[in-house]
This record gives sequence, structure tokens and C-alpha cells, in this order.
Amino acid sequence: MRVADAPGEPPVGPVPTDPDTEAGRIGPAMELVSARLQTRADAASGDAKDVLEATITMVGDPALLENAENLVREGGRPAPRAVWEAANTFADMLAAMGGYMGERATDVRDVRDRIVAELQGLPAPGVADLAEPAVLVAADLAPADTAGLRPGIALALVTEQGGPTSHTAILARSLGIPAVVGCAGARQLVEGAFVVVDGGAGSVEEVGSAEEAAVIVEAVEAVEWDGVGRTADGHPVPLLANVGDADGAAAAAERRAQGVGLFRTELAFLSAAEEPSEKRQREVYDGVLGAFAGKPVTARTLDAGADKPLPFLTLDGEPNPALGVRGLRIARVPGNGADVLERQLAGLAAAAKETGAELKVMAPMVATAEEARFFVQRCRAHGITSAGVMIEIPAAVLVAREIMAEVDFVSVGTNDLAQYLFAADRQSGPVAALNDPWQPALLRLIRMLGEASAETGVPVGVCGEAAADPALAPVLVGLGVATLSMGSGALAAVGASLAGLTLEQCRALAAVACAAPDPMSARQAVSAHCP
Ligand code: PEP
Ligand code: MG
Repeated sequence: MRVADAPGEPPVGPVPTDPDTEAGRIGPAMELVSARLQTRADAASGDAKDVLEATITMVGDPALLENAENLVREGGRPAPRAVWEAANTFADMLAAMGGYMGERATDVRDVRDRIVAELQGLPAPGVADLAEPAVLVAADLAPADTAGLRPGIALALVTEQGGPTSHTAILARSLGIPAVVGCAGARQLVEGAFVVVDGGAGSVEEVGSAEEAAVIVEAVEAVEWDGVGRTADGHPVPLLANVGDADGAAAAAERRAQGVGLFRTELAFLSAAEEPSEKRQREVYDGVLGAFAGKPVTARTLDAGADKPLPFLTLDGEPNPALGVRGLRIARVPGNGADVLERQLAGLAAAAKETGAELKVMAPMVATAEEARFFVQRCRAHGITSAGVMIEIPAAVLVAREIMAEVDFVSVGTNDLAQYLFAADRQSGPVAALNDPWQPALLRLIRMLGEASAETGVPVGVCGEAAADPALAPVLVGLGVATLSMGSGALAAVGASLAGLTLEQCRALAAVACAAPDPMSARQAVSAHCP
């Protein structure tokens, strides 16, 4: 099934020959859009339901209808254009008000696109509700849309844009939905075509019949792992899980994760129109921490911004959101970010008390030791005894010793560290090769962190996608990485890989990988040196 794009700006003309009839089309189109959204809201729950209910109120706004009808009757606009202009005026007004009202501007534009598509006879934009299992094909999918996909109904996801470390790809993987991202020309596939989607090879092929159609899930070898991460000579390397909600945490515990190395707290709130209440936050935090009583759980404070906008927190209209006010930076600019951080830290601390999990908290998007100090102070004020930061910005590697003097631990987000190191957008298919975690330049940065860690005694973990690669994991350990955190499906393969090598052998592999001129040579050199 193709995921329809937004319809785009409709033309100003021609002037309708019968303005009354033309204006009369708008009301029924709005009602139809509203009814469809209502069906979805009835089937939804939690934040998704709240967002849909709020959107329905906008579709039914009598002022929007009246203004659009007037633009047809008095302004000579065709109906789609009239809705476009009336909605934009409304959205601009909300945006100018700022704050909560300003954030509603996005909802108005969404409503606008739905009504315009209806008036133009085009499919509704965004992910439709699938009545039966299908492969979704889209230009790109927002993380909020991806998070709402149902495995088993959404059989696979194919997008033209995006790289393998984009959040859309990470989310699809965590839901167990095979995803082929950055697939050029995918949207040329005809609606209803039969395809073979190979999640492992990253390929999509059109076939002639339903019998030939298939979704090949990334091959996961059945490997033995006893649930304790360590090298062959007994050097401990706790293997932790990346999770986003209670279900993910329960699955990770079942797969014997030794704790959670990255709880992406923002994922639970991607479609929340307002800051989630204390009660809602506690539900989510208790759910994740409760699956790991007595074990370490590293929660990351909200990493809002860039490709994970949170409607209640993200600044609108930044020209380069990935380089803008993202992650911890939101708590340090005027606005509600500082208070949101305080309430989140309080909720996490309370959840730790309630569940008995060993809470660690870290901040995303930290570039300087001063930012690290600020964050640790905020954590301490809430009685959080283990506070750290993510290393995702190359500047943070260059001042690693100063940062380590402030924190209890650091964790490398290789997805963003690569993006910012190579100036290569992780959402962009054409530059995906630069974001390869085997890039020697990236590995050499991690080596610098390993050296700083050995000197300061502050442990460094890796929680980016690099940690999930069984061939790369020993290299990371050889570089001085103390813990690895990954999608829980990768735990057994990574555990088995480490168990087959001594620490000395890991160090030798790290040396050859760092010395390689490019990712392909690094992979080959490591494979050739593996005993
Ligand atoms: C990373 O950047 O590697 C990371 C783990 O964080 P996220 O993917 O959520 O940005
Ligand atoms: Mg990151």
C-alpha cells in the first residue's frame, strides 16, 4: 500500500462558474474527513486517541468552514484553494501566539491537507488504517507514524528516503517490522503489486503473483548465549537493551538483557500534543523500570527535536533542526524546557523508588563540560546518584576528560556521532555510506574515548546501532568500551561473538579496524584476523 504524500499547494484558479455549488462542496468534505478520523480515534487509545480527538475538533471548526466558503463566494477561489488559504491564515495566527497554541498550527496544516486531498479526489495523506496485511511504501515516514504501525498488519516498510540509522528504521526494527529504507524509485511500485521485501539484503523486487510474494526477515542465526556478556577470558561486558516502552522492556528481559542501556523516553510521547501528565509519565517509566528490578536501567531524558519532534517541546521553523535546539539544549533556552526536564527527572526518580530498578539518567546532545555539569546538578537535586551524558557530538570527544570529570558515565550514540562527524544527515539515503559505523574515522574517535576512560576511570558504553553488529562489538570492546546496548534481537548474536574472543584478541581487532582506510577494508581486515 502506498502512503500518500500531502497534496501540495492547490492553484489559485480557475474562478468557479457556480460559486454556491463550489462552496457547498467544502462542508461535506470536512464531515467526511472528520468521520474517518473519528473511526480511527474510536480504535485508538492513549496519546494517539488524544491527538486524533484534538484534530477532529479542528476539522469541525465552524470558523474554518465559514472563512473557506467566503473565499469561494467572494474571493473567486476554487474550493481546495479556499480551504488552503483559510487554514493557513488560522495556522499562522496560532503560530504567532506561540506556546501551546503555537504548537497546534501543525494540526491545522494536517487538517488542511486532508480536506484539500478529499476535495481533489486524492487519497488521504499519511498512513491509512490497513484493513488487511500489506507492505507500506512511502517517500518517508515520520517516527510518530512508524511507532503507530502494527506488526503483522504492516508486513514491511519500504521508504525512498532515510538511512539505516534513521529513527524510522530503528523504530521499525524494534517493532520487528522489516524495513528497507533509502530505496530509490520505491514509489514507482504500482498499488496492489506483489513484492518480495528482503529486510536483510535491503532489496525489494516485484513479482507476478501472491504466491511468489514474501517478506524475508533479516536472518538471525540461532546462537547460544548464556545471558552474561563477557569475553572468552572472562572480561565482563554487560549486554544491555535499547527500549522505548514497557512492552519493549519486557521483551528485552525475556531475551536476557542484563539491563537497559538506552531507554529512549521520547518515543513514548511522539504524538502527545501536550506535556504528558505526571501520571502518564509514571505509567511509562514504571513499566520500563519494573521489568528490570535490581538491574541497571539508563533512561535518557527527552531527545526532542530534529527528526523526533515532540509537539509540546520542539521549536517550530528552525532552518536546520538537527543542528538546532535538540535534546538537552531545549532545557537551556527560554521556554518550558527547563520545567519539563525537572518534572521528568522527578518522575524517573520516583519510578526507581517504586520499582527497585538501579536508575541511571543521561542527557542527549551534550557538547561541552559545562552542559554536563548543569545536567549532573539537576540529577543530583532529584537524588539521582548515577548521571551521565551521551557522546554524540565530535566536540564532546575532544573534551572527553573534562566531561568525564563531571559525570558518572558516558554513552556513545554512534548514530548521531557519525552524522555530526561526517556532516551526513542520518535520514538521507544518498549519504548513508558515510554513516557506516565501520568508518575508521568514527572508530578512531571511539578509541580516543576509550583512552580517556582508562585514564579517568569513568566507563564508556555504546548504545548506537554499532553495538548491535556482532562483528563490530569485539572491536568496540577492544577500543575500551565497557558496556554495549542494542535492540534486544541482537543480544544473543553479540553475546556469542564476544564469548569467542579474548580481550587481547578484541584489542588486536580494534587496531586493524582503526588502521584500515575505509569501512569495507575495516570489515575485511577484522574478518581476516578473527581466529
Ligand atoms: C545515537 O545517536 O546513536 C543514539 C543512540 O540515539 P538516537 O538514535 O536515539 O538519536
Ligand atoms: Mg542520538
